[in-house]
Amino acid sequence: DLGTANTIIIYNDKVVVDEPSIVAIQRDTQKIMAVGKRAMMMHGKTHENIKTIRPLRDGVIADFQAAEYMLREMIKMINFHNSIFPPALKMVICIPSGITEVEERAVKDSAEQAGAKEVRLIHEPMAAAIGMGIDVESPEGCMVVDIGGGTTEIAVISLGGIVANKSIKVAGDDLNADIVEYMGRMHNLRIDEPTAERIKMQVGSALPELEDAPEDYMVIGPNKVTALPMQVPVSYQEIAHCLEKSIAKIENAILQALEATPPELYADIVKRGIYLTGGGAQLHGLSKRLTDKITIPFHVAEDPLHAVARGTGVALKNVNNFGFLIR
Ligand code: ADP
Ligand code: MG
Repeated sequence: DLGTANTIIIYNDKVVVDEPSIVAIQRDTQKIMAVGKRAMMMHGKTHENIKTIRPLRDGVIADFQAAEYMLREMIKMINFHNSIFPPALKMVICIPSGITEVEERAVKDSAEQAGAKEVRLIHEPMAAAIGMGIDVESPEGCMVVDIGGGTTEIAVISLGGIVANKSIKVAGDDLNADIVEYMGRMHNLRIDEPTAERIKMQVGSALPELEDAPEDYMVIGPNKVTALPMQVPVSYQEIAHCLEKSIAKIENAILQALEATPPELYADIVKRGIYLTGGGAQLHGLSKRLTDKITIPFHVAEDPLHAVARGTGVALKNVNNFGFLIR
């Protein structure tokens, strides 16, 4: 699962690589210094000769070379039992549904460079649905909403195909950006993305009233004007307020997707509920808010950060039966 925020590799049914999708590069030589967690630790702390790159932005590959290198290094992280050389691998890679043919080719090429013998691609929403245990080949329609780092993907699936698909560039990264902006504006506190991400994990909320309310989160940083250190307690209510606009955009996109859904499938979706996955599905109060507003029950995947990867793993076992895999 080559995600905007995280890349996950399943090998022999097990998650063997689970790393943030980021690389650190030495500027002058263009040499790669680190990928994944090690590169993440450098994020926001680099000097002029090191830069960190997230090769995927907004759900598409923004930096080909970095993406290829990242994929190759992550495949190297797999511990291939008792073999010195990696075996000739059969691979299924999941790709964002908005990807172009040129980009598809690039993903396949880098996988082949990395040692893959046979490569198939699968569209993300399809993998997500399979990962949540849905029988995608059945004629009964279902809707999947995947809130990742760069994009929210909404898809209606039936008979092994994607019937309707909507993608918006509002997802986890935007919520972080909202928090950075809010902390500066409301508290005069200057923070970076990693701190915003921590705030979101602790006190991020889609509702101003939560049943199991998290405690205030203490944020430390420089005052925007005086540069003196500040400590600010942040409540989930204020973060709910700060995230409101972005959450409303996600909500509207789901409504638009429902509007574009053929009535027979719509009826199936109302009956089954809507499946919510991706890291963003874990935001406090989100599934409750969507259920209340849209009046269709939302089910959160058991393991939202891994559903797509698991579905990709199932697809690998069925390469010969799943007609929707891309050669
Ligand atoms: P992608 O598929 O784009 O790599 P993921 O499905 O891995 O994305 O989800 C990553 C996103 O989920 C990030 O933006 C991250 O901040 C967000 N996220 C992870 N856990 C939580 C949480 N508990 N609350 C809110 N957002 C979360
Ligand atoms: Mg994803």
